[in-house]
Formats: sequence, C-alpha cells, structure tokens
Amino acid sequence: MEKILNYINGEFKASISNEWMSVYEPATGKVYGELANSNEADVLEAIEASENAKTSWAKLPQHKRSAYLFAMADEIEKSLKELALAETKDNGKPISLATSVDIPRAAANFRFYAGAALHQQSEAHDMGELAFNYTIRKPLGTVVCISPWNLPLYLFTWKIAPALATGNCVIAKPSEVTPYTAYLLSKIAAKVGLPKGVLNVIHGEGPRVGNTLSTHPKIKAVSFTGGTKTGSTIAGLAAPLFKKLSLELGGKNPNIIFADAPYDEMLATTVRSSFSNQGQICLCGSRILVEASIYDKFKADFIKKVKALKLGNPYDDATNVGAVVSKSHQQKILDCIALAKKEGGKILLGGNAAILDNDFKDGYYVEPTIIEGLDQDCRTNQEEIFGPVVTIAPFETEEEAITMANSTNYGLAASIWTSNQRKAHRVAKEVDAGIIWINTWLLRDLRTPFGGIKNSGVGREGGHYALNFFTEPKNICFTY
Ligand code: NDP
Repeated sequence: MEKILNYINGEFKASISNEWMSVYEPATGKVYGELANSNEADVLEAIEASENAKTSWAKLPQHKRSAYLFAMADEIEKSLKELALAETKDNGKPISLATSVDIPRAAANFRFYAGAALHQQSEAHDMGELAFNYTIRKPLGTVVCISPWNLPLYLFTWKIAPALATGNCVIAKPSEVTPYTAYLLSKIAAKVGLPKGVLNVIHGEGPRVGNTLSTHPKIKAVSFTGGTKTGSTIAGLAAPLFKKLSLELGGKNPNIIFADAPYDEMLATTVRSSFSNQGQICLCGSRILVEASIYDKFKADFIKKVKALKLGNPYDDATNVGAVVSKSHQQKILDCIALAKKEGGKILLGGNAAILDNDFKDGYYVEPTIIEGLDQDCRTNQEEIFGPVVTIAPFETEEEAITMANSTNYGLAASIWTSNQRKAHRVAKEVDAGIIWINTWLLRDLRTPFGGIKNSGVGREGGHYALNFFTEPKNICFTY
C-alpha cells in the first residue's frame, strides 16, 4: 500500500494528528494508498518552515534559483513513465494522455519559468533633470498554491514554478483525490536539493486546512484552481484580509461551428475538445453550437466518430476514454444526465455508466454522451458537468450564435470554427471568454494570459502575468 506523506521543511512526514485517508484507483475502484490527512497544525508547521526559508531563497541570485527549476524539469522528464503511470492510477485518465500531455507539460512549466527567472526585467522612468524612478519587483514571501484533480501535476506545477521562480516560498495543496504525483514531485524537490522549507506540500481534505491557508497573516497570496464554489469560499476569507488572489474556476465553454468550418479538422478536434480526459478539462467545449444548415450532417458524423472512441482500461495505450475521477463524481455526472432527460433532452449517444470486465468491473466509467433538444437557459446548459457529456444545438445567424455562446455565467474559453477570417475575428471579439481558439483547441503558448471572466475566475496565469502576480512592484524615486 502506497503511503503518501506531507513534505514539510524538507522532510517527509505523516500529519501531526496521524490521521489517514484512503486513496482510490478510479480504473478499478480499489484503494491503492493511504494519504496523510492534514489539519491546521501541519499548515502552521509548513508556514514556519517557509518563513524560515524565505529570506535566503529570495536573496539567491536568479541564475541559482533558475538552476533548481531547470533541475526539477529535467527530473520530471527523466521520470516520465513513472509519473504518467502514477497520474493514470490516481486519476483514471488514459496513459497515452498522461504520457503525451500531463507530464510533459509539468516539465515544460518548470522549464518555462526557470527561463523566465533569467529574463525578468525591471522598469525605469526618467524625469529629466528633476528625478529618476526605478521599479523593482519583490517576492511576496509565503504563498499558497491550491490545485484540482483533473490535471493533477500539470496544474500543480503551473502554479508552483512561477511562485518559486520569483523568489517565493510555497505551501502547495493538491487535491486529496489525486495526490500521488504531487508526492512524487516533492521527492524530486528533495532529490535536486531544493533548500528545505522552500516548497512544502500539504495533503488531505481541503476544507480542514482551507481556513488557515486562506487567512493566516503570514500568507501573502493564494493561487487557486478549482470549482467556482470553493473559489468563492476562499475569496470570502482571503479578500477582506487584502491577500493577493488568483482564481481559476469552472467553465461551460461554447464550441461554435459555422457551416464554412474546415470540416474534417473541426470534427476531429471537436471529438477531442468534448471528451479528452473524460471531459474533465476546464477548457472542454461542452456546449456545441452548430449552424443549422450543417446540423444534421454534423450530428451524424459526430455520433459516428464518438462511437468509435475506445472506452476502457486506461493503462492500455489504445484507450481514448478512461475512468472518471471518483465514485461520487461518476454519480454526479449520471445525475446531470438524468436531469438533462428531465429537462427534455434527447440522448443521442451514451447516457449510462459503462461496466467493464474483470479487474476493471468496479471502476468509475461513463459513456461519452451527446444530448440534443435543450435550450441554452436550462440547467444542463448552464451548470458545469465536468464529465464526458456535451449538448449540441443549432443556430441560424452569427448574432444568435453569439447570444447563445454568452448565455451562461461562465466565461473561460470558446472555440470558433469558420474559414471566414473576418467572421472569426468579429465573433471572437463578441464572445465573453478569456481564451478564444479559432479553428483549433487547447493550443497553448505559455507566454499568453490564461484565465476567465465572469464566474470563471479573477486574474490571469501564464507568462509575465504569473510573474507579476507572485511579486509586488516597489518604485524608488530619487533626485540628483
Ligand atoms: P474543488 O474546488 O473541489 O477543489 C480544488 C482544490 O481546492 C482541491 O485541492 C481541494 O482539496 C481544495 N479545497 C476544497 N475546499 C477547500 C477550502 N475550503 N479551502 C481551500 N482549499 C479547498 O475543485 P475540484 O478539485 O473538484 O476540480 C474541478 C473544478 O476545477 C472544476 O470546476 C473545474 O472547472 C475547475 N478547474 C478550473 C480550471 C481553470 O483553469 N479555470 C482548470 C481545471 C479545473 P480537496 O480535493 O482535498 O477537497
């Protein structure tokens, strides 16, 4: 049985209360490990370790901090197979996805911010004979990074890397549902000799440690990715204390398909944007809006392509759709499908739990599900399902497509498919989302701003946005 321990002040340890919780393998529904279930006392220990480490870490020259991050990236790459296997075991995602996306991106996050640390620039403002200003960016001190279960190491490192690169010490909290690769990352931190206390990883249930993580006076910033409700709880605690907050929350992303879309590319990508990672990517396009003139053709072709996806054992290289993350999440998705039916939705494909054989018979599987016949204002089209479930609906005009796209309280991402560049950019301007893809999906340049509007979040990650979030500018003005 795997024991997943906290990593505090460079040491691996059980929680102070010695409480444990079970960790499940979604593919089989079996317990594979025990996880330290932390509480306030563990967080306080981590804060102390971080506070003791913060001055020397902040004063380290950039190239030395950068070297640690490059070493972390190298070690992640060297451990690709082990980490991918751990991610699949913990999350249920197909091994092909963990190997080609999750783990390479975790290495890229460290490599990108290791490089960024070397290239950070500061500003100067000359006032002629009168005075001169220069602005330095100081690290914040101790910061908190909280990440969700869907892209466990990918999102965990996306926060930690810029925080460390800018000279902060980190208390990181992965989801209790998928803690394994965060634990393996703390082993990598120990292996590369990251100074003790610079990175601390606290495991266990979020609400048990959430209060301390969000309110402790020594914590200067909280970078959170997760559900909108949890984000609101954290903001409610941290905002009145004037802590810096970055909130990356839920989505209900439209995928707008015009009749002049590059059809084959659109179809293949729409299958991916609907069902990659079992639909458990905040950027998945769960509302597919299709121009009426090609609606019937699209519907038939889409169903055919989705039917051909291989659902099953996620350790098999050929599997396209693995298990969803937990029993309770499987039930939530099935409840959402039941609601869609009640709302008048017609299930065109899927709609049920999938039952596998042998070792996988107790795993948490849901058939890729396509639903039509629902208005955009029903709950199915308004609330995040975060599973392998999409709705399709026709539109007649560009204006109607935009109105439908903008009809939710979310605003994370959108895709637009058309060969008419003018139309593409016209629509892109009008769709309420922080991230728009034209004739593509999930193509990421780590320099670009990442984040949403409305209930999808506050703030941006990526590039200099994260570097700015994790630092405070200080302007120094002097006269001659
Ligand atoms: P949750 O909000 O349930 O949890 C996210 C993290 O917060 C977990 O580590 C969780 O720990 C922790 N947490 C829970 N309660 C508290 C609390 N009171 N204080 C502090 N931390 C807490 O989200 P999920 O893990 O269910 O992730 C799915 C959600 O994440 C979806 O809504 C999805 O859209 C969103 N997401 C957004 C992305 C974006 O970039 N905008 C990207 C990816 C996902 P524990 O699990 O132990 O409870």
